Amino acid sequence: MQKDLQLFIELAEQLLSEEEKHPVAQPIPTSSLYSALDLSLNSEGVVDSELIENLKSIIKSTPKTATKSFFNQLFGGRIGKATLGDLLAVMLNNSMYTYKVAGPQVGIEKQVLKNICNLIDYSQDSDGTFAPGGSMSNMMVLIMARDAKNSAIRTEGISTKMTLYTSAESHYSISKNAALTGIGRKQVRLVNTDERGEMLIDHLETLIKIDLANNYIPFFINATAGTTVLGAFDDIEAISKISKKYSLWLHVDGAYCGGVIFSKKYKHLIEGLKHSDSFSINAHKMLGTPLSCSIIVTQHPEQLHHSFSNEADYLYQTDGDDFNLGKTSMQCGRRNDALKIWTLWKSVGTKGLEKIVNKQFKLAEIARAYIKSNSNYKLYSFDDSISVCFNYKDIDAKALCTSLYEHADLMVGFGSFKGEQFVRMVTINSALEENDILAFFKTLEMHVNDKMLKISTS
Ligand SMILES: *Cc1c(COP(=O)(O)O)cnc(C)c1O
Repeated sequence: MQKDLQLFIELAEQLLSEEEKHPVAQPIPTSSLYSALDLSLNSEGVVDSELIENLKSIIKSTPKTATKSFFNQLFGGRIGKATLGDLLAVMLNNSMYTYKVAGPQVGIEKQVLKNICNLIDYSQDSDGTFAPGGSMSNMMVLIMARDAKNSAIRTEGISTKMTLYTSAESHYSISKNAALTGIGRKQVRLVNTDERGEMLIDHLETLIKIDLANNYIPFFINATAGTTVLGAFDDIEAISKISKKYSLWLHVDGAYCGGVIFSKKYKHLIEGLKHSDSFSINAHKMLGTPLSCSIIVTQHPEQLHHSFSNEADYLYQTDGDDFNLGKTSMQCGRRNDALKIWTLWKSVGTKGLEKIVNKQFKLAEIARAYIKSNSNYKLYSFDDSISVCFNYKDIDAKALCTSLYEHADLMVGFGSFKGEQFVRMVTINSALEENDILAFFKTLEMHVNDKMLKISTS
């Protein structure tokens, strides 16, 4: 192992220097991937020196998500202490299902959950779990809400039409999960949004009333804290009144921007969160941990147990359910995703996490200010969002993003809202500074002038 650790350090160092030299990896066209790199698996193994060279060339061509040129996704950057925690989790290789096998790591997970419950003013006995991603978090709460509405479903299956409500701008996993959990995609009601992408409360109530009149069984509302394209925040306070009125489970999907719970300045965006039944947050997005680190908390811990526990004599042989986390998780064997956020949180404190989140909003402000001050740009996004959506010189957003990628200049994606397509720059890497944001625009402008406008006029 000692030797492999040394090899790891060598490869990690190569990665860091590669990130400096080539912040955007030159993409390999899919048609030549297997000829450009040796990805073959053969009956005979290779010697270490060959393996290392092989891995080095793979690293070189792998997209770089931690650099100053990556604005493509709702994650990015690299926070050392969080990476340290995750590397340690790999070395320890516990499975989180029992106290016997995970020991203090169970306490670490419970501590993270407890602190989050406290931060959002959830009731004292609230609890939660870690899921393998935000989509799976949404699936787990959907199952809980389904079973809370009708506890017989666990044994009998679904025999009625149960309807759920989520905004048209919410994450696609809501509809996908409806298909996976027996609810059915047709029972998903997409609520209209206003011009900022926030759920329209009147439309929500109208849809519920129509369903009730038609003998459907409404059971679940999903509110989004940071929609995937615009980064909009639904009005949780107002939605919670509707959920109470009709006895529906209210989940707040904070996968993207739930990190605002750490910020005094931006906490107002999730006002009313304490009235929700469950909340999820992806620490691998705003909090900058490695993928994946998805946290669910709920004010109905008994529901978590009801929906996910299963007796297994061969597994649960010591300690109480409170410390045998397999009783409330989706998986059986489960990797330790808690240690990375715990290590980061321990090292920088809650105040440090607040700084990370505030910095992202600050960077977005800088980007919006630049766009507003330059008439070649059109801005589509709003204040209090770390998704900065824009178009430059009316250039097709898809063509621009693809050209930037193919020339290895920048990694940035595009999105659309109400029929308009635009570049979506995500300022989620808290290690960036004002200069890096301005450099993004300079690179984009030079790219357009040198590589796009020239081609189109020649
Ligand atoms: C990213 C995201 C998800 C999905 O999270 P994964 O970890 O990618 O599965 C769900 N909801 C919202 C709002 C998101 O932004």
